[in-house]
Amino acid sequence: MPASELAEFVAASRAAGRQTMVHCSGSDGVANCLEARVDSIEHGFFVTDDQLAALRDRDLAWVPTFAPVQFQVDHAAVLGWTDQIRENLQRILDQHARSLVRAVDLGVRVIAGSDSGSHGVPHGWGFLRELELMQTAGMPALRVLHSATGAASARLGFSENLGVLEKGAAARFLIVTPRVLDDVRALRDSKVVMFDGEVLTEGDDPAAPGL
Ligand SMILES: [Zn+2]
Repeated sequence: MPASELAEFVAASRAAGRQTMVHCSGSDGVANCLEARVDSIEHGFFVTDDQLAALRDRDLAWVPTFAPVQFQVDHAAVLGWTDQIRENLQRILDQHARSLVRAVDLGVRVIAGSDSGSHGVPHGWGFLRELELMQTAGMPALRVLHSATGAASARLGFSENLGVLEKGAAARFLIVTPRVLDDVRALRDSKVVMFDGEVLTEGDDPAAPGL
């Protein structure tokens, strides 16, 4: 979609009080998003360092979505991918990891999102997997947690105050081991889930798939 058409979507969305979140990859796609000033780019594979700086300067959020591609690599044989394809996908992931580290250094507004619904990326567990992959890519755990909470809610701008711990905010949070501040994989440990003041689950979930 050319930037001019994209810009019309953005204008129409803004007029309706909505945001425009664009799933795209490739430096041409990212360039069009930058020109049209969309609100966020999902995926953004092959984004260049210059484009990352422009994302920061124009305050476009970036949602890297490692999970769907990582699944293709981890289950290449089952999916019928050749070694060549798997290696190409791994190279793309390695480059994406470098871009994420660069984005954090540059101060890009990075938001966690898994592209749940993609093959092998279930809602909930796929998101947790995404957080782990962002950390593996080199993003510090605390930054990863922020990308899933305060940074996300700040960009989404819901009328409800979500994603932060402060007076008047919705009481939605996890009580977990402090280890999570160093390693987001600890989110899989025993925890208490509070949702609008109600305890939903406690302890380990035996149904957790080994993603
Ligand atoms: Zn997508």
